[in-house]
Amino acid sequence: MNILIFGPNGSGKGTQGAVVQKRFGMPHIETGVIFRENIKNGTELGKQAKEFIDKGELVPDKITIPMILSRIKAPDCQNGWLLDGFPRNLAQAEALWIALQKENIKLDYVIEIVLDREIAKKRIMGRRLCATDNNHPNNIYIDAIKPADKNGKNVCRVCGCEQLATRADDQDEAAIDKRHNIYYDTNTGTLAAVNFFRKLVKVLDVDGTPGVKEVSEALEKKLI
Ligand code: AMP
Repeated sequence: MNILIFGPNGSGKGTQGAVVQKRFGMPHIETGVIFRENIKNGTELGKQAKEFIDKGELVPDKITIPMILSRIKAPDCQNGWLLDGFPRNLAQAEALWIALQKENIKLDYVIEIVLDREIAKKRIMGRRLCATDNNHPNNIYIDAIKPADKNGKNVCRVCGCEQLATRADDQDEAAIDKRHNIYYDTNTGTLAAVNFFRKLVKVLDVDGTPGVKEVSEALEKKLI
């Protein structure tokens, strides 16, 4: 099963992606995670990507497109993949589609988590990352996933880990606006990429406004 998942930053896309990954067992390939790992490990790719990520800009297509096209050819992707965070613009969508056609690879589903821009922004600023597992959802602005309290300190609501961090690019409002400008751009941005696929494959639209659980349930139903 080959799936793309779209959603603005703050829509819970990563969390819903993990639900899909669990259901079908394919690798969950998150472009942002790949970049952050490279930055952490001080690789050349990480150094190149960092200056763009810190400003809330896209890493150039000439770096990102080959990185992902080679990732989905890796042996663990033989039985499918879930791409999360790619494509992020129309050019990446077109490049991916051309590569898939060339290799005769079917794209089964495209998922779009639909969320209002202002709600998405608030959710980003409240997001807290658990050092034990980044997929443990914690958000100081969402009641259903508020971090737990331990002696007046916020700890991970799933595992109790005391290291809850914000991502530097999550607290910079200008950078968030820039990222959303890219996402909500229907001419050449991410929504243009989603619309590009609408003409080619089945796009499952899921309302991202309710809580994580409700969104997962709605998504599960659509995946049948
Ligand atoms: P994310 O974790 O998906 O929010 O991604 C964090 C940052 O990584 C983004 O703000 C971009 O700077 C960069 N990034 C992630 N995916 C892409 C992509 N497909 N193309 C270019 N840059 C990307």
